[in-house]
Amino acid sequence: MEGKAPVSFENTEIAFKRYSDKELKMAKMLFGMFNFKPVVRFAPPITSFALKIGLPIKGMVRATIFEHFCGGESINDCDQSVRILHENRIGAILDYSVEGEQDEEDFVKNFHEIQGTIDKAADSASYPFAVFKPTGIGRFSIYEKVNTGLELNEKENREYDSIKGRFKALCQRAHDKNVPLFIDAEESWVQDCFDALVESMMEEYNKEQVIIFNTVQLYRKGRIDYMNGLYTRAKTKGFKVGLKLVRGAYMEKERERALEKGYPSPIQDTKADSDKDYNRAVELCFEHKEHTKVCVGTHNEDSALLVVKLLNENNLKPNDDRFWFAQLYGMSDHISFNLANAGYNVAKYLPYGPIVSVLPYLSRRAQENSSVAGQAGREISLIKKELIRRRRAR
Ligand SMILES: Cc1cc2nc3c(=O)[nH]c(=O)nc-3n(C[C@H](O)[C@H](O)[C@H](O)COP(=O)(O)OP(=O)(O)OC[C@H]3O[C@@H](n4cnc5c(N)ncnc54)[C@H](O)[C@@H]3O)c2cc1C
Repeated sequence: MEGKAPVSFENTEIAFKRYSDKELKMAKMLFGMFNFKPVVRFAPPITSFALKIGLPIKGMVRATIFEHFCGGESINDCDQSVRILHENRIGAILDYSVEGEQDEEDFVKNFHEIQGTIDKAADSASYPFAVFKPTGIGRFSIYEKVNTGLELNEKENREYDSIKGRFKALCQRAHDKNVPLFIDAEESWVQDCFDALVESMMEEYNKEQVIIFNTVQLYRKGRIDYMNGLYTRAKTKGFKVGLKLVRGAYMEKERERALEKGYPSPIQDTKADSDKDYNRAVELCFEHKEHTKVCVGTHNEDSALLVVKLLNENNLKPNDDRFWFAQLYGMSDHISFNLANAGYNVAKYLPYGPIVSVLPYLSRRAQENSSVAGQAGREISLIKKELIRRRRAR
């Protein structure tokens, strides 16, 4: 690999080639809106209410924020976005982004939908992974009780058995169809329960190759210790480790809860501490590369460049199947498209679902873009640069 040129994220022609001028201007307007805190705070509940009472605004939501961040309302609706990504060497990870459900009927419905995403991924090279959120197939409060070690009553025990049944059935299906499957990470007060469930699935299905992936949030303290422990157990028991590395999406909520309940915050004291552990986690995966497959889920340019550097230093090809990059659809295309163009393995989470049900997801994207320092600003300046470049090229 000697002499491999470093990847640059500056090339906006590559980054935005999938967008028409009109789409780019719409994206610029959206990211611009995210800079106004009152819009981010009040627009989602107002929109949700308006949609629920049937005001005719669905078309407007679809043509703006939904179109930019989502693939469509159903699996097949996403075909066009998937095709465009595929043409650019980027895989799609179908993410059924319906949130906040509470009853068994919904969980069963979601379970069938996720099965559909695994089946779709099995049929085509355009989908390198499938994904699910544990709270999409089971009640948060049940996971929370198990996490705390509280005893479940008879009814809850039956409910938890059903959850575990769905969890296992999804992993079994992914294994049978040879589709690598991510399990997302959520709040720290349910995560121990998820970690245990996912590890038991890795033990069962990651014997020959990596099918099951846990997600590690490096904004939490102590997750490097967790990874070290996992690698030791994997070695002893003879299974391979699949990991998605993220910083973590629930920082404010985590800190507020810790303060309210009077326990030490599980979140790193500073952003620099999160970055340090994130980079250490990446290094650990390289140290265990013989029995690891990893996806770095990040919009952070330095973290992505660290992986590029380590691939190079380890004499691994950019498209070594053990190392993947992933970003969210509609965000950080300058990272995804430039990495893919340079031959690295890249995939995008492609959220989909009925418009009214994916509003909580869209609201989180808006909040993230308004709160993560410089994220919306970075998108806007890249889009402006590309619009100027196109004007000059005409
Ligand atoms: C493909 C993909 C999959 C994802 N899956 C999950 C998932 O399963 N679970 C999940 O929780 N999130 C998930 N995320 C979201 C992710 O956790 C981050 O919220 C988001 O990607 C921003 O972090 P970053 O690494 O991109 O970049 P950056 O912009 O460098 O980092 C921002 C992040 O740093 C951390 N941070 C910010 N300020 C501080 C501070 N003062 N102190 C300590 N830490 C701080 C926070 O985690 C914040 O989100 C996923 C993201 C991607 C791209």
